[in-house]
Amino acid sequence: MTGWVVIVGLGPGSDGMITPDAQAAIDAATDIVGYIPYVRRIKPRDGLTLYETDNRVEMERAAHALQMATDGHRVVVVSSGDPGVFAMASAVFEAVEAGPPAWRDLDIRVVPGITAMLAAAAAAGAPLGHDFCTINLSDNLKPWALIEKRLRLAAEADFAMAFYNPRSKSRPEGFERTLDILRACCEPERVIIFARAVSTPEQAINVTTIARATPEMADMRTVVIVGSSLTRVIERTGPRGGGPIVYTPRSVLDGTAPG
Ligand code: SAH
Repeated sequence: MTGWVVIVGLGPGSDGMITPDAQAAIDAATDIVGYIPYVRRIKPRDGLTLYETDNRVEMERAAHALQMATDGHRVVVVSSGDPGVFAMASAVFEAVEAGPPAWRDLDIRVVPGITAMLAAAAAAGAPLGHDFCTINLSDNLKPWALIEKRLRLAAEADFAMAFYNPRSKSRPEGFERTLDILRACCEPERVIIFARAVSTPEQAINVTTIARATPEMADMRTVVIVGSSLTRVIERTGPRGGGPIVYTPRSVLDGTAPG
């Protein structure tokens, strides 16, 4: 049997956001490896072994997957969202680069998934309709000074921004500092969206302004989207209800956008 490794994303939560290509890889696998809550989303079946591992053991998990593939197993590594966005695909390639030469010749593929930011943007309207950037606010693997520099420059360049890993229990002060930087760089009415548990039954979309935002609005199940200076909110008051629509127009006509 020829082994392989396919790194897939399971999307942000709902099964409808698992792509057919990701599902096909799962259906063909002999082994699944990943962080506990993601592996629990895979339906057990005969001939499939599930390996649940804890958070923060990405390199061990990657090496385990590569070794099993070397031994002839068909291994799927699962991430949430997209596997290339702050997730397992890079960890697998770091392990390949540092590992034995045989790993470089393995059949390794990445299957894209719907990342949290895109599902959150769709739930709110189209806040990423013009230029945007994405910043991981976790300082586990990079210094806080770099996060701060990127935040300032992104705000100065008037990008819309999406933040992953905004606030953990172990370092809640980071997101407070993020809000302080945004308030220093942007006008108080700048739109900010807190999108929690998107595409799950607990989904909550909170649209507010940076003046009114508080750190408690974010947790580790939240992706935060900050509009550009041109991002607009359409309030909805009709009988059909629903939250406001947030969108960023497609053009910056005169090049004089504030910010
Ligand atoms: N690979 C994943 C991101 C992993 S980092 C992806 O592409 O989506 C984990 C962070 O993703 C969380 O802290 C949160 O900011 C975000 N996230 C993941 N799933 C989410 C969901 N269903 N709703 C809101 N944010 C989510």
